[in-house]
Amino acid sequence: MAEGPYDAVVVGAGAGGAATAWRMTQRGWKVLLVDAGPAFDPERDYGLDQPDWEKQRFRHKPGSEGEFTFAPMQALDPKLADLRSWSLVQGRTNRGDRRVASGAGYHHVRGIGGSTLHFVGEAHRMNPAAMKMKSRFGVAADWPVSYDELEPLYVEIERLLGVAGPADVGDRWRSAPYPLAAHPLSRASRRLARGAAALKIAWQANPRAALSAVYDGRPSCNYCGGCTHGCPRRDKGSADVTFIAKARASGRCEIRPGHTLLRIVVGADRRVEAIEIADASKRVQRIVTPRLVLACGAVETPRVLLLQRGLASAQVGRNFLESVAWTSIADAGEPLLSFGGLPADAISWDRNRPDAIPGVIGGFRLSAAIHEADMMGAIAHAQRAVPGWGRAHKEKMRRAVGSLIAVGAVGESLPHEGSKIDLDPKEKDGFGRPLARIHSFVDAMNVRRLQAMAAAARGLLKASGATTLVEEYGTYDAFSSAHVFGSCRMGADPRSSVVDRDLRVHGVANLWICDASVFPSSGGGEAPSLTIQALALRAVDRMV
Ligand SMILES: Cc1cc2nc3c(=O)[nH]c(=O)nc-3n(C[C@H](O)[C@H](O)[C@H](O)COP(=O)(O)OP(=O)(O)OC[C@H]3O[C@@H](n4cnc5c(N)ncnc54)[C@H](O)[C@@H]3O)c2cc1C
Ligand code: SF4
Repeated sequence: MAEGPYDAVVVGAGAGGAATAWRMTQRGWKVLLVDAGPAFDPERDYGLDQPDWEKQRFRHKPGSEGEFTFAPMQALDPKLADLRSWSLVQGRTNRGDRRVASGAGYHHVRGIGGSTLHFVGEAHRMNPAAMKMKSRFGVAADWPVSYDELEPLYVEIERLLGVAGPADVGDRWRSAPYPLAAHPLSRASRRLARGAAALKIAWQANPRAALSAVYDGRPSCNYCGGCTHGCPRRDKGSADVTFIAKARASGRCEIRPGHTLLRIVVGADRRVEAIEIADASKRVQRIVTPRLVLACGAVETPRVLLLQRGLASAQVGRNFLESVAWTSIADAGEPLLSFGGLPADAISWDRNRPDAIPGVIGGFRLSAAIHEADMMGAIAHAQRAVPGWGRAHKEKMRRAVGSLIAVGAVGESLPHEGSKIDLDPKEKDGFGRPLARIHSFVDAMNVRRLQAMAAAARGLLKASGATTLVEEYGTYDAFSSAHVFGSCRMGADPRSSVVDRDLRVHGVANLWICDASVFPSSGGGEAPSLTIQALALRAVDRMV
């Protein structure tokens, strides 16, 4: 294991930090990778083989959930009742008249692998058209890096992860095929394919960081459906079993779980000199480094900078982007074993382009979503989809489990001055430091897109012959976000961005941000990890 002195320290071992550390070891550097959360052992820590597997979507460990707060959210418009979340069993899930956080609200994991431990593993490239939102549509900001620059890095990462995908994914040109053949569609997704054909929309295999064959010493997927619970087989391309395993094997990366970054020590010339980290017993250690990379995610990275006097410009925390999402679930009326199979195995990119919806800026995608909805086990069915009691209820349950299908839509999230990260004036962490506070506002354009998304999800279910809806939920009445971005935007101008096109913080020569917070726009529903990682590899290449 490498020991100091280090060539670089990376704080945050999620999608971005893991890719950064790996690339540095490839370049021959000695790296310290620090994370506030614990390390997970896929064979031991995930509970898919336990009798109570369903009770927790992801089996957290002590320290694997961050703390944050929400500022009060907007009043809901009674005219938008059609966008309210509901289920057959519970009725309206937000019975108030204001938007609230759903569950934890910001879905994430602290740990070695970060939120990818919990992720589904969709492996998407950005739509090039969605990287020019300012010049083409006058909203958000243009990416200062082009799709063409990222393309070879996408290929490299897809090979490292073992992405299984189809030959063609629409607007995104490719210089090489996916390393693995696409997974066969599940029965539920084949049923949805019938509806897509009737509507004349494309419905195809989703590029997935889940192995369709033995690859790089990892086994192929067994279609258990449990990706968001943590993959016990290591075939899902989470950062711990891919980038971090390779960084560790290089012998040049020291990995330190359970250590929180408290302070960045900055010299008189605005250069980072060292960091101070603390373990769970609050023992503080100072580590000198010539280069520092922050990769704490789009909620925590701005907090780190805001807590640090002199490093945060007025742009830090602004332009926060969240998931704009809608899911409809219906009864297909036939046993489809829909609790199993590969989550999100099928997708439609038809309305993913930013101008694909008439009168709306920003697109969306549709995908098979029963597993992401966590409608897999008996508890979820009984609590959400199958009302009743006694013998009749048992009969209905027998029929429903495996027969429900879902369509999820994820769309563009446009920046708004009411959506940002700042410091909570009251709530503090165990070290006495203010927590990050999430402000979120759904504006009229996001509402119009959500309406189009809900209509499309319902339309696809109906065309597939699944006419009885059992549950619907979306982000109009509840903040519920697994994809967060934008709070340390990249751009050329320090007056409107935090990092430059090489992810270096404006005005600080040896500080970089390599995580989702740098995205200038969100894309039309593309899952972000592949792009976070491509940007991270590019940043390291430019550091060299
Ligand atoms: C349920 C779910 C499903 C998802 N599905 C997909 C998908 O299919 N495809 C996809 O591409 N993306 C998906 N995502 C999103 C994806 O996981 C995230 O976008 C991605 O992991 C973000 O990468 P990041 O590097 O910005 O942050 P993270 O991966 O969240 O990593 C940040 C790390 O920083 C650490 N950290 C924070 N503060 C400190 C501190 N002060 N000191 C030390 N360490 C700190 C945290 O402990 C954490 O490990 C999903 C996410 C969830 C939760
Ligand atoms: S469906 Fe495949 S990738 Fe997902 S948890 Fe199961 S074995 Fe792992």
